[in-house]
Amino acid sequence: ENPLLTLDFEPAFESLGEDYADPVDAAQFPQHLLRFRNDDLLDTLELHPNQVADEHFIQAFGKFAGRFPLLAMRYHGYQFGYYNPDLGDGRGFLYGQVRGIDGNLYDLGTKGSGTTPYSRGGDGRLTLKGGVREVLAAEMLHVMGVRTSRCLSLIETGEALWRGDEPSPTRSSVMVRMQRSHIRFGTFERLHYLERPDLIRKLLDHVIETYYAHLNQEPDRDARFYAELVQRVAELAAQWMAAGFCHAVLNTDNMAITGESFDYGPYAFIERFDPRFTAAYFDQMGRYAYANQPGICKLNLELLQEPLKQVMDAADLEAGLATFEAHYIAAYSQLMLHRLGFGELPTEVGHELIGRTIQFLQSTKIGYHDFFRALREQFSPSWRADAALIFTDSVSSNADALESTFKAWRLAYHRALNQIPEAALDDVKARLARHNPTVVIIRSEIEAVWGAIAELDDWEPFNRLLQRIRSSVEPPAEPPLP
Ligand code: AMP
Ligand code: MG
Ligand code: MG
Repeated sequence: ENPLLTLDFEPAFESLGEDYADPVDAAQFPQHLLRFRNDDLLDTLELHPNQVADEHFIQAFGKFAGRFPLLAMRYHGYQFGYYNPDLGDGRGFLYGQVRGIDGNLYDLGTKGSGTTPYSRGGDGRLTLKGGVREVLAAEMLHVMGVRTSRCLSLIETGEALWRGDEPSPTRSSVMVRMQRSHIRFGTFERLHYLERPDLIRKLLDHVIETYYAHLNQEPDRDARFYAELVQRVAELAAQWMAAGFCHAVLNTDNMAITGESFDYGPYAFIERFDPRFTAAYFDQMGRYAYANQPGICKLNLELLQEPLKQVMDAADLEAGLATFEAHYIAAYSQLMLHRLGFGELPTEVGHELIGRTIQFLQSTKIGYHDFFRALREQFSPSWRADAALIFTDSVSSNADALESTFKAWRLAYHRALNQIPEAALDDVKARLARHNPTVVIIRSEIEAVWGAIAELDDWEPFNRLLQRIRSSVEPPAEPPLP
């Protein structure tokens, strides 16, 4: 008996009826090679790794036997600023929904599982490289404290896929991803396009009752829901920014109504602090550039007001959105202070330190992640005594780093250290180890892993990188999604 097939599935989304999704069949694949299983997530599903054989993963998430219905979710979305009504799950479906031991409902959603009515001429497939990249992104973001989807499994499926941006065929895969919800801003936008306020109302009630259940009994629960979504999305944007992550495709069909991060295509972790860095080659205008992410998230929340306005008060929506900046700044400041080793600092001291840090990072050639890693490795309580002791070794021996921005940063850091009691210096060290990973998957790191797979079918570097990601912060991250 396969424990993945006898999970306690709850047909929450399915129960909304046929206006929201289409039942589809999964593709039949010529081969099934389990390349990744996320045993970390089995806990949440009340399973133990020993209970679940690789073959169980293959049966459930590669052959898709024994689950019914598989639902292609319907949605539209603004893609690079333009409304596209010709969208929907084109290469994935909702496999099922399960209540985790944390009490939360989780979606198991596929990617690369075959064509659907929304494939638009696409093949419904996922490249193996795309699957590998998404697994790595999700695990990395998770250890960095970003509220993110995780991959539960990745199975290589033995097909040759032609992709426009590659000269020869590439390998295929199918992934199963676990996250709170795959309901997107675009799920609401579609219902507005179809002029169905009744269906918007029904979906909104479903979202609040399922994912914002603490608001159920509130008389003004619609307003509170939107305000909380604004907060969650502002916090998510702050998490990306502090982590040095560029999602790259922040279309409204990639914005989850639960405010979590998902769908990792051409993403990149920044190598240096460059506000205009773009990860997707096709984003020529830099719409989704690194530093544009908070603004784009706010814009997407504003676009979501159009459908929501059909069933709730416009003034409530405006009031909710007006809190975006304050939530963003509070979250970003807190996260950056953590990366610098601090819990709380007097506001002015904290802002000065963060500002100086960004100035320094932007004006030198030092890597964004290298800087925080160096801080973690070299921090010494003795720095509190004298600013001249701060980074006397590697960082300050970099000629660029001797600029005035480094001196200004050093003074700001020294000042911050002197705001906390001597006894709290150990906490600084612990925080640095908790918030600054020893490994970050910049592109070269991922390309090296992919190169070994593509050229030698050697999965060792991939598995080793996953291990390094998992042990890259201390203590390790909590189980998924609060
Ligand atoms: P994305 O940019 O990955 O969020 O995808 C946008 C839309 O294109 C989604 O509706 C996908 O389901 C669809 N799509 C992406 N790749 C494919 C593919 N290979 N075959 C069919 N549909 C796809
Ligand atoms: Mg998408
Ligand atoms: Mg995608």
